Amino acid sequence: MIRLTEIKLPLDHEEGEISQAILKKLGISEDQLISFNMFKRGYDARKKTRILLIYTLDVVVENEAELLEKFTDDPHVKVTPDMEYKFVAKAPANQTERPVVIGFGPCGLFAGLVLAQMGFKPIIVERGKEVRERTKDTFGFWRKRNLNPESNVQFGEGGAGTFSDGKLYSQVKDPKHYGRKVIEEFVASGAPEEIMYVSKPHIGTFKLVTMIERCAQKLLSLVVKSALALALMIFIWTTTKLQV
Ligand SMILES: Cc1cc2nc3c(=O)[nH]c(=O)nc-3n(C[C@H](O)[C@H](O)[C@H](O)COP(=O)(O)OP(=O)(O)OC[C@H]3O[C@@H](n4cnc5c(N)ncnc54)[C@H](O)[C@@H]3O)c2cc1C
Repeated sequence: MIRLTEIKLPLDHEEGEISQAILKKLGISEDQLISFNMFKRGYDARKKTRILLIYTLDVVVENEAELLEKFTDDPHVKVTPDMEYKFVAKAPANQTERPVVIGFGPCGLFAGLVLAQMGFKPIIVERGKEVRERTKDTFGFWRKRNLNPESNVQFGEGGAGTFSDGKLYSQVKDPKHYGRKVIEEFVASGAPEEIMYVSKPHIGTFKLVTMIERCAQKLLSLVVKSALALALMIFIWTTTKLQV
């Protein structure tokens, strides 16, 4: 796959103009362009009268090797980097010891999820309540000033930012593409797909609660394979906060 950077189009461009810009940039005909995917969309608003969208596009073409050779000196035509998340380990067969993760904020959630995806069966300990209960407690404080010191905007399933609008502006410099893994998991859990490519991704208010629930379900289903066991685990999760 070829990655094209700095493809600039007017703010109000038609959808078809993206593929036309690819053809123009690479000097190829329509039948040589197999497909393309938007990796990133930023903007240049320095001139208020001429705001531009700036695309980074991953392009599949018939004659990739030939084009890479042709554009060898062009910094805006390069091979698409390998962005696939590489797991650092795989749980040995018959592993009996289990990793313990303390807290189910974003760090605990991803630590648990990645451990489960590697085949481990993490035990996750969270001091606060499950996310729906926590929502009631948090809004109870914000609206009526009833503070529950154990269940609030700081403590509970989902962690501190659960009731935010979900701005995802971190990992601007991310040479190993770790942020991509996070974004992919968020989209799989119901975040808007555009967070995959917009320059300032933003999940949107009130979506995080459902996303946290889906992430937790996914984690549980990886750890506990049978439906009956899953139902039991969800019961344990919501009553004792101990995921086994
Ligand atoms: C109102 C608000 C809005 C925010 N908005 C954004 C945003 O839009 N974008 C953004 O990127 N960041 C935002 N943040 C920051 C973001 O929430 C944090 O950076 C992030 O939550 C940190 O993740 P964490 O997992 O390290 O810690 P936390 O989210 O704090 O999670 C820690 C978890 O551990 C649990 N815990 C603590 N002690 C124990 C214990 N002894 N035993 C068991 N469990 C324990 C807690 O209950 C909690 O669930 C916001 C934060 C707040 C408060």
